[in-house]
Amino acid sequence: MKKHNFSAGPCILPQEVLLKASEAVVDFNGSGLSLIEISHRSKDFVEVMENARALALELLDLEGKGYKALFLQGGASTQFLMVAYNFLETKSGYLNTGTWSDKAIKEAQFFGEVVEVGSSKDENFNYIPKGYTIPQGLDYLHLTSNNTIFGTQLKKFPKSDAPLICDMSSDIFSRQIDFSQFDLIYAGAQKNMGPAGATLVIVKEEVLGKVSRQIPSMMNYEVHISKDSMFNTPAVFPVYVSMLTLQWLKDMGGIAAIEAINDKKAQLLYSEIDLSPAFEGYANKADRSNMNATFNLTDDRLKDTFEELLKEGGINGLNGHRSVGGYRASMYNALSLESVGTLVDIMSEMERRG
Ligand SMILES: *Cc1c(COP(=O)(O)O)cnc(C)c1O
Repeated sequence: MKKHNFSAGPCILPQEVLLKASEAVVDFNGSGLSLIEISHRSKDFVEVMENARALALELLDLEGKGYKALFLQGGASTQFLMVAYNFLETKSGYLNTGTWSDKAIKEAQFFGEVVEVGSSKDENFNYIPKGYTIPQGLDYLHLTSNNTIFGTQLKKFPKSDAPLICDMSSDIFSRQIDFSQFDLIYAGAQKNMGPAGATLVIVKEEVLGKVSRQIPSMMNYEVHISKDSMFNTPAVFPVYVSMLTLQWLKDMGGIAAIEAINDKKAQLLYSEIDLSPAFEGYANKADRSNMNATFNLTDDRLKDTFEELLKEGGINGLNGHRSVGGYRASMYNALSLESVGTLVDIMSEMERRG
C-alpha cells in the first residue's frame, strides 16, 4: 500500500532522490566504490560539496551577494549556541515563537544578555506576536521563520538595524522570501532537504569577525568558510542527499514552482479543517504554517475511529508533538498534493461519521 508520509522531521524526501542516493551508497558515479567509503577530499566528493553549496545560494537567489553556504554538523541545535558565540557581545534580541526559539534563547544566555522582543508563550505559541518594538543597539535579532511544533509561520519579517538571523529549519526552500534581508540563515537538513546530520548555514561574510571573544575552531564560521566547509570530515551522505534534493528542486522550477504547490496543499487541508465540524485548527488563522498544520478532533471520542481510518489509508506521522497534542500534518516540499487529498478524504469521512 502507498504510504503518505506526513512526518515532521526527519521527513519525506523525493522518491527519485532516495533511489539515486541508494545507488550511490553501493556504487558512487560508477567508481566501484561507495559514496560513504571514499575520501571527502576526493575530487568526486569535493564536487558534491561545491554543488550543494552553490545550489543552495542559487535557489535562494543569493549568488554574488556576499554570502557563503556551509554544511555543518550538530543540527540546528548547535546553531543556537554557535550564533551567539559568533555574534553576541553584549545584547541580543529574540522573538519567542515556540519551543525552538525558547531553546535558542537558553543557549544565547550563556554568552550575553537576551531581550525577548516578543513572545506568544501566553497562548502556548498558537500565534505570531505583532506590534512589538525592537530595542536599539542589539548585536543581532533572531527569528524562527516556521514553528514546526505549533504550526505557525512568520508571513512578514521585522526590519531591524541589527543583523537579522533566522532559523529556517522547517520552511527553507518552501516559499519565496527576499532572503537577502537576512545576515545569517540556518536549517537542519532533515525537514526539507535531506537526512539528519547536516545543517545548512548561509552567512553574509561582512557581518562576521565582530565579537571580541576567542572562538574555538569548530564553533567559528570564519574557519569553516576558509576551509570550504571541510574543516573536519563533513557529513558526506547527508550533504550528498541534500545536493540531490536541491537539484530536484531546481529541475522542477525552483522555489517559485514548489511554493505554488505548497500553497495548494495548505489550502486544501486548511479548508477541510475550517469547514468540517469534526476538526478545529490550533494556530491563529492569519499565522498558519504552510508546512505544518496543527489541528484537533472536536470530539475526542472519535479518536480511535480517526486513527483506524488513517492507518487504513496509509497516512503516516500525523501525531501532534507531545507539547500540543492532537494532530500535525507536515507538508514539506516532497509531499504530493495527492497525499494531502488522501488525508482530506479521510477527514471528510470523519465528518460523515461524527
Ligand atoms: C527541528 C528543528 C530544530 C532542531 O533541529 P536539530 O537539527 O534536531 O537540532 C530547530 N529549529 C526548528 C525550527 C526545527 O524545526
